[in-house]
Amino acid sequence: MVETAKFSTKLVQKNQLTRDVIELRFEKPAGCTYQAGQFMQWIIPKDGKNVLRAYSLSSCPIDKTLNFCVKILPNGTASKIAKNLKVGDSLEMQGPRGRFVCNEAKPTQFVATGVGLAPIIGIIRDELESKFNTEKISLIFGVRHKEDLFWTDLLDELKSKFTNFDYHVTLSRPEETDWVGLHGRVTDHIQKNTSSQYFLCGSPNMVTEVKNILQEQSQDPKDIHFEIF
Ligand SMILES: Cc1cc2nc3c(=O)[nH]c(=O)nc-3n(C[C@H](O)[C@H](O)[C@H](O)COP(=O)(O)OP(=O)(O)OC[C@H]3O[C@@H](n4cnc5c(N)ncnc54)[C@H](O)[C@@H]3O)c2cc1C
Repeated sequence: MVETAKFSTKLVQKNQLTRDVIELRFEKPAGCTYQAGQFMQWIIPKDGKNVLRAYSLSSCPIDKTLNFCVKILPNGTASKIAKNLKVGDSLEMQGPRGRFVCNEAKPTQFVATGVGLAPIIGIIRDELESKFNTEKISLIFGVRHKEDLFWTDLLDELKSKFTNFDYHVTLSRPEETDWVGLHGRVTDHIQKNTSSQYFLCGSPNMVTEVKNILQEQSQDPKDIHFEIF
């Protein structure tokens, strides 16, 4: 598939992951290729025109479907489409696009907040399950509350299957008395290691702050990869 290929695809599965995050799985058209971590642009008809919204692929190339993880924003144009789309409905999209991809096997630390986990889970699975990367791979996943967590079963499964993978969850506003994991923002838990590469995905503030922390420790900028939502 060329970079700007447009295609229409059917929704085959819809999963509610949290109160405001849903996973959508679409048919993968024949010949559709992409690299883990890339995104598609959804083509959404609005007021007689088409508007584009970028959504990262949370699947990886070996998967049979194109998967996305969408945070439903109140009154958001694409959010409304994602919320109302039913299994069997079609959506137009184009892509793949983006350079948030992993081309080097070296120790890697992933930092994700909220739906920033979407491209990162695809890259992590691709490194472990397809590329058989045996370097140390770690993830810090930050959300506000315990109820905002998703894919921890999948992360646990990867952790038990691949000894080079580990992950930690941190809650920035834990209200839950039974929470025994990390507290605070992801910036409080960055492991500084100049021989690692870093992949950051989430809000502009988080990405800027982590980049600043890494740059202060003289991390080589070519080893800091980021995607801002
Ligand atoms: C490379 C890339 C990858 C991305 N991947 C993902 C992903 O995997 N998952 C994901 O959830 N998001 C992702 N995003 C973000 C996504 O592209 C959208 O920006 C996001 O989902 C909001 O789109 P929307 O159409 O629902 O909301 P929009 O219509 O763009 O609105 C955004 C917010 O602004 C508010 N708003 C809109 N118009 C007004 C107005 N006139 N006045 C006041 N408020 C207003 C809306 O209520 C809404 O809360 C990605 C972004 C990029 C750049």
